[in-house]
Amino acid sequence: MKSNIMPLYGLERTKLAEAVPLETPFSIFVFPTTFCNFRCNYCGHSMGLSKMKNLYDFEPQHMEMSVYLKVIEQLKAFPSKLKLLSLTGHGEPLLNPKIADMVKIAKESNVAERIEIISNGSLLNKEVADALIDAKLDTLKISLQGMSDKSYLKTCGTEISFEKLIYNLNYYYSHKQQGKLFVKIMDIALDEGEEVLFYNTFENSSDRMFIEKVRPVYSGVNYDLELTTTMDRYGNIHKNRNVCPLPFFMLGIFPNGDVEPCDTIYKPVILGNVKEHSLIEMWNGDILKEFQLSHLLLKRSENSKCATCCAPNDVSHDEDDLDFDAFNLSKIWEHQLLNGRTVDESKVD
Ligand code: SF4
Ligand code: SF4
Repeated sequence: MKSNIMPLYGLERTKLAEAVPLETPFSIFVFPTTFCNFRCNYCGHSMGLSKMKNLYDFEPQHMEMSVYLKVIEQLKAFPSKLKLLSLTGHGEPLLNPKIADMVKIAKESNVAERIEIISNGSLLNKEVADALIDAKLDTLKISLQGMSDKSYLKTCGTEISFEKLIYNLNYYYSHKQQGKLFVKIMDIALDEGEEVLFYNTFENSSDRMFIEKVRPVYSGVNYDLELTTTMDRYGNIHKNRNVCPLPFFMLGIFPNGDVEPCDTIYKPVILGNVKEHSLIEMWNGDILKEFQLSHLLLKRSENSKCATCCAPNDVSHDEDDLDFDAFNLSKIWEHQLLNGRTVDESKVD
């Protein structure tokens, strides 16, 4: 077997409490498009556009290249490279006709250690695969929605040829050079006994494969499941997190250029727009500092979006946990807000 059964996230993690405040975010998620060709029954897209507009102020759009180029230019101002630039978020990235160009520009700009795309894979064909390989994409993560045409119809309301999807994934895997192909599937998209079929299908045609647990990511979606909030999507059990770690190491950028302190659909706070402010200004600015401080002071639930969001319990890892250090860190943040970032943090009690 060539593939490894392991979660698809970055395995080399830094202990976040010892590293913050970060001068450069570890990761940035740029949403190349928020259109999707699927309507998976566990995803916000299953609710339809008018409900998504009402609940999340969400209107699908592609990111224009002019906005993307601003993002890349602004990333060069950070003192270090990002660990990860993910061209992913709330839509199917391959629907953006410029996606391969976006990868190529990011690679040539050398702004991140790794560029990834998370895709449902349905639009992958020889031409798209070749373009992504030529662009030197580091990681293509494929999120499967079933193991047959019938399951796809059931899970995402879309007719596809599963055989063709597998053919195209095999083509990508056998032609890629330095990049990786990771494949995952949600547990609810598998029929009874199909776990083995999933692993057998990808054991020699992926670099990693994993079955994730569906989580109640979208408020408004009726998750007809027994969902515990103390187990993450990788199956790890942990205590509920009080502090959401995401705003301390990442940013999310919507197609219109709006920037949020995570990669959810919720936009708990808008830090600014890349057309008006630079990313480094937003990363070091008071809006984000105030937002982070409110989490450190255990006031997360005062933000209505954060109050209903499961992400801290869904995707946070032990190394990201800030709960234990929240009080001490809050003192650093209070000093920064009073005195600016030039404060010497080693002098804070
Ligand atoms: S493919 Fe992804 S973004 Fe599209 S509906 Fe399914 S889960 Fe949502
Ligand atoms: S709790 Fe959710 S919405 Fe709030 S910052 Fe964390 S990930 Fe974003």
